[in-house]
Amino acid sequence: MPDASLLDPDEPDPVAFDNEAGPSAFFLTCDHAGRAIPRRLDRLGLPPAETLRHIAWDIGIGAVGERLSGLLDAACVRQRYSRLVIDCNRQPAVPSSIPEVSESTQIPGNRDLDDAARAARQRAIFRPYHARIAAALDRRAAAGRATALIALHSFTPVFNGTARPWHAAVLFNRDPRLARCLGALLRAEAGLVIGENEPYAVGDLTDYTIPVHGEGRGLPHVEIEIRQDLITEPAGQAIWAARLARLLPAAYEAFLGR
Ligand SMILES: [Zn+2]
Repeated sequence: MPDASLLDPDEPDPVAFDNEAGPSAFFLTCDHAGRAIPRRLDRLGLPPAETLRHIAWDIGIGAVGERLSGLLDAACVRQRYSRLVIDCNRQPAVPSSIPEVSESTQIPGNRDLDDAARAARQRAIFRPYHARIAAALDRRAAAGRATALIALHSFTPVFNGTARPWHAAVLFNRDPRLARCLGALLRAEAGLVIGENEPYAVGDLTDYTIPVHGEGRGLPHVEIEIRQDLITEPAGQAIWAARLARLLPAAYEAFLGR
C-alpha cells in the first residue's frame, strides 16, 4: 500500500523487486530506474519533455537490470520514481536529495519545500526502497548466503555541453577490490573505453546505496555506470546485460582469489 501522504492507492509501489529468491550471489540495484512522478506533484511544474530526459532517470538501466537479473538468476531491486522527486542514491539530508536545479533545468516543484513536504517524499519513496533492500540483505545474511552488491547506473553522453569518452565505468570509494577486478575485464573487451571513478566517483554525500548497503555491511560491491546512448534501445540493453552476465562472475571469482 503506497504511503498516503504522497501517493494515491492506484499509483505504483516505489519498489520493483525481480527474482528475489534467485540463487546468485549478485544483488542488483537500480536506484534511478524509473521516471514516475506522483500525480499530486503535478509533474513538478516541468514540461513533459524534461521528465523524459536523463535528469529525470537513468535511461536504459532498469531494462539492463531486468535482463541481467534473468541471465544471472539474481535478485534485482528497481526504484520506479524519478530522482527529481527524491534521489534514492543520496542521503536525504543533502540538499541535492530533492534538487531545485538539475544540469541547467530549474525544478519549480522542488523550490522552497518545507520539512513536511520533504518528509513525505522520504516516507513514500526513499525509505520503502531502502527498507526493502535492507530487509532482503538481512535475510540473505541470516541464511548465510554470499552477497555481492552491484549498483547499476547510466550516465548521459553529453553533460553541460561536454562529451564523455567512456562507454562505461566502475566506481568505488573505500573498497576498490571488486571494482578493479571488473574494470580489468571490461578493459580487455575490444573497443571499450572504461572509466575508473569517472565521470563520477562514489562518496558519502553523492551516494547512498554503496556506502550504506555495501560498505556499511562489508559486502563486496561495485557501482557500474553505462553510457545511456549504448542502452537506450533493447538491442544495446541485451548486449550490455550479456556482457555483464559474462564478466561479473569472472570478476567475482578473481575477487575471491580463485
Ligand atoms: Zn544513477
